[in-house]
Amino acid sequence: MESQKEALMAGDPVAQPPGDLTCQTPNEEEEQEGCVAPAVATLGTEADGTSADGLWELPVEPGERRPECSRCSRPQKVCLCPFLPVHPLHISTHLYIIQHPAEENKVLRTVPLLAACLPKDKCKVKIGRRFSEERDPELSAVCQKSGTLILYPGAEAANLEEFILDSPVYPSTIIIIDGTWSQAKDIFYKNSLFRLPKQVQLKTSISSQYVIRMQPTNSCLSTLECAAVALSILEKNNYIQEVRL
Ligand SMILES: [Zn+2]
Repeated sequence: MESQKEALMAGDPVAQPPGDLTCQTPNEEEEQEGCVAPAVATLGTEADGTSADGLWELPVEPGERRPECSRCSRPQKVCLCPFLPVHPLHISTHLYIIQHPAEENKVLRTVPLLAACLPKDKCKVKIGRRFSEERDPELSAVCQKSGTLILYPGAEAANLEEFILDSPVYPSTIIIIDGTWSQAKDIFYKNSLFRLPKQVQLKTSISSQYVIRMQPTNSCLSTLECAAVALSILEKNNYIQEVRL
């Protein structure tokens, strides 16, 4: 509200001399550089003086990228490899992670952790928003196979645990979308390829505790958790869930 009022005042040339105005609008970052010192002098309050000094001391240049662990892709200081299984887990299910490009650059990236736990040939990460037969013939072929599932909740989705009991073809592949809810929704509904596999969701006593945590702000974490729960159901192996962070 304050900034709106100030913006209005700034738009009115009669209100105050422009020099003073810029100093009173700390929200206008571009203006700040030239006027922080006069603002401090004018306002004269200790608190403002301290915070302005603090601002000057902050590193402005984006720091160099910290060295990353090649296995889990975390900064080396917070490498999680000691908590991951030494050898990739033996699984027969193929996992495809469809990753929204925005997820790739997130600080907390959990897909590399997942990939570090699984054999390379069983976990493939595809980054993008739009997929088609022309762009990705391999993924297209996977989507058309009868043993492929896509994990995406909704009214159409079958409960994974119940589905595998009745399915004539035991699922060999599961596709999971990594992104916020809106990113995942966009990817699922705007790519007709992803409507081809059987749609499944996790809705069981085993998974409920994780499903509750599938909040939009937590989507990164839930991709890892969903993958762990889905794989443990498909592989009939609870150890996979226990390995989960
Ligand atoms: Zn590591």
